[in-house]
Amino acid sequence: MNNLLEAHSVSKKFGEFTALNNVSISVPKGSIFGLLGPNGAGKTTLIRIINQITMPDTGHVTLDGKSLQPEHIKDIGYLPEERGLYKSMKVGEQALYLARLKGLSKQEAKERLQYWFDRLEIGDWWHKKIQELSKGMAQKVQFIVTVLHNPKLLIFDEPFSGFDPINANLIKDEILRLRDQGATVIFSTHRMESVEELCDHIALINKSNKILDGKLTDIKRQYRTQTYEVGLRTEHKEQLQKELSTKFEIAPTNFKTLEDDLMLNIKLSEHDTSNDLLGYLSSKGEVSHFVELIPSANDIFIQAVKNNN
Ligand code: ADP
Ligand code: MG
Repeated sequence: MNNLLEAHSVSKKFGEFTALNNVSISVPKGSIFGLLGPNGAGKTTLIRIINQITMPDTGHVTLDGKSLQPEHIKDIGYLPEERGLYKSMKVGEQALYLARLKGLSKQEAKERLQYWFDRLEIGDWWHKKIQELSKGMAQKVQFIVTVLHNPKLLIFDEPFSGFDPINANLIKDEILRLRDQGATVIFSTHRMESVEELCDHIALINKSNKILDGKLTDIKRQYRTQTYEVGLRTEHKEQLQKELSTKFEIAPTNFKTLEDDLMLNIKLSEHDTSNDLLGYLSSKGEVSHFVELIPSANDIFIQAVKNNN
């Protein structure tokens, strides 16, 4: 079994409103799977179904090939979107309490918590009250409690919201490290910056429907436009640009250069290869820059959602 988790044709209505319509996903073992989509798409609903908080109307979910059952809860570490800690409790006391709920012995919980508190640089906060913590610090505590019992599946619902860029980066690195140690990770986000660095696989949900899924590199290949960002050193910029525009689809662009280069995005025509373009350009001047424009997760997200709407 290569997939740790599979959701098969999951649908969920709240009254007349369809929150999920026939959504299937396959999450390969050891991967980081990004559940993407605009606000209100249905991401949290699917995550709550996987965590057995909400029941689907139709469809089913399997973990390691077995239909979801109550015993599976201990195999999953879940960081919910709405985060809450008891404000008046002390930080360490609260973390210990939550760790014990995950089935760790007191000693084990203490040791692991100490390790993680030092690791995420909140060790000094052990004896302070939760209400004294900033939002970001409280989120670190919740992140720790989510991963503490080394579950095989980690699910983070919007893990980066509320973090400043430095802490978001710290959490991102921890997620990568947990994956490298063997965990499988599902995380949801409506912001694309984190996707490029983290996701092996993605599923894009829009208005309760899955509109795109697969390996991120395969999806990028599918969305590539055969466009190259080109820099050319020549005495005759204007003339050359005119000439190029008769042969190719061109658009102005901008990148760092130390010379007064002609900078263009050039789209290959159907029968041309990148080498044809490169050969042509080098016969016209000195090629100083030649890079394929790879669509970003953000470009793909925007285009796929626009096409779907
Ligand atoms: P996302 O996490 O992608 O932003 P959600 O899964 O939270 O989206 O919500 C999808 C849609 O379902 C939203 O329109 C939301 O208002 C609706 N919804 C979610 N949970 C409930 C509920 N318990 N009762 C009624 N509507 C709900
Ligand atoms: Mg959500």
